Formats: sequence, C-alpha cells, structure tokens
Amino acid sequence: MPELPEVETVARDLQRWVAGATISDAVVHWERTIRHPQPAERFVVEIAGATIRRVTRRAKTVLLHLEDGRVMTVALRMTGALIVAEPGTPDDPYARVVFRLANGRELRYRDVRKFGRIGLWPGGGLRGIGAGRGARSKRVAEGGRRYRIGEVFSGHGPEPLQRGFTAERLAERLSTRSAKLKTLLLDQSFIAGVGNIYADEALWRARLHPLRPADSLDQRDVRRLHRAVRQALREGIANRGASFSDYVGVDGEPGANAERLAVYRRTEQPCHRCGRPIRRMVVGQRSTHFCPHCQRWPLGSEST
Ligand SMILES: [Zn+2]
Repeated sequence: MPELPEVETVARDLQRWVAGATISDAVVHWERTIRHPQPAERFVVEIAGATIRRVTRRAKTVLLHLEDGRVMTVALRMTGALIVAEPGTPDDPYARVVFRLANGRELRYRDVRKFGRIGLWPGGGLRGIGAGRGARSKRVAEGGRRYRIGEVFSGHGPEPLQRGFTAERLAERLSTRSAKLKTLLLDQSFIAGVGNIYADEALWRARLHPLRPADSLDQRDVRRLHRAVRQALREGIANRGASFSDYVGVDGEPGANAERLAVYRRTEQPCHRCGRPIRRMVVGQRSTHFCPHCQRWPLGSEST
C-alpha cells in the first residue's frame, strides 16, 4: 500500500505532467471509485472543463487543486495508480476513471483491486495542515451541507515532514498515550502518512522495540524517534518510494526504495547494524519486522 513517500512521489510527478492541463471530460468505468459527489454522473458533469493548478499531497492522498478553488482527492489505497498516457496509448482494462485532457493526453486512474476513491470538494480549510490535531477536531457535517476539503482531513494527525512537527510536539502527543509504538505510528489520527513499511523502518532506526508503550519513552528516545520517522520518509521520497505489488510512479516505473529498506520484509536476513537476523511478529494484525538485538526493551530485558 502506498505510504507518504510513494504518494508524494506521485504528486510531484503529476505536478510536472498535468499542472496547467484542462480536463475536457471524464469517463467513469467503475462507479464505486467515485466517493463524492454522487452519483458518478454528477462527478463527471462537475469535473468537465476544470483546469488543474497544482498537485500536492495530504496524508496518503493526492490532491489536485483546480483553478476555481475546488480540490480533487485521489486516495490510492491498495493498488491505485495515476498514469499519464500519451495519445494513442492502448486502453487499460484496469483504468477505473479516465480523465481526457485538452492537450490530447489522458490521466488514467488505474486500480486492479478497486479500493481507491476519488472525490471532488469545495476548497477551504486546508491551512495549518501540519498543525492537525487529529480526531479531536473532527466535525460532523450538517445535513445536506457539503464538506469542504479541509473537513475531509480533519480527523488526520499532523504531517510529519512539516516544520511544525517538532520533537517537542511528538513528545507531547506520545506522553498521553499508552498504545504500542507500532500501533500508534500506523494510527492516521496520531500522525499522517506513515504505514507498515515506514513504521518498521523508523523504529529500527530509532532502536525502539515495536511493542514499547508510547508513554514509556524518555526525551532521548523521542528525539531519536522524531529524527528516524523523518529520515525514513525523506529517504523514501529521495528513492521515489518503495514498490511492492502494484505501486508504480506516474511514468510507470517502479520506485527504488524497496531494495534499501533495513527491516521491512527482511525476515531472517542479517541486520545492517549488528548482523543478527531480523525477526517478524504480528502487531495488531500487521506484519512487523525488527531486530531483537538493536531494538531491545529498556534495561536490557529480553524482548518478546
Ligand atoms: Zn540489529
């Protein structure tokens, strides 16, 4: 599943390919891909003629900002991909929505397993993304009122790569939680964009055991974790993301980060730091990879 670095890579590529392009019309091949507005015919009417101003990312979602202030969201979920196709490219049987651009290209939303969702929202309320407070600020839409784009993300936690996400803020957020670190890093209301790959990588870098309760970390632990999360994500972006299964960049090329991961899917292979074998365990139904030697419990007690 694409996480922050993979989605950021898609957004940056798309910015180069489609910023300034006008969507002539859209063809929806799989109606359930359209989350908002409904029905899909209405989405098709509303998106026709829109010009894409710029492409960004929030959490694990691609945001296409339109000239008129509206925002189209593309949540790739498991197997979604956005591909720019040159004129004459053969049709793709897995393209669920095809946006025909005025310049003759097509922006194709491809999704083999069909879990991804596309929405079109009124603008507003996205400022202060890095200051997201998580579920606390979640508001309920009043009957019939349309969500603005900011409200779509009001349940999400802060963006870990934004300047406002400091070690002090992370410490504050961790100190009130007793959840296991691995579980908390995957919680999108705690921190946005981190998934299974980068949670494991960050904990290995920070030398923290995945089962450590969040409120058991001291100041030095928190600083290491803060640095580790940001480094793991930044390196992921620099390597254009990690490709597993169906994730591909806009150009159709897989990212190079998978070969550079330290623990994720490296069970029984030697740890890059100590040479001992990486272990796998299941935490909250998620596969978790770690080095029992480097990521010990405090006081040197035995890990699970
Ligand atoms: Zn190790």
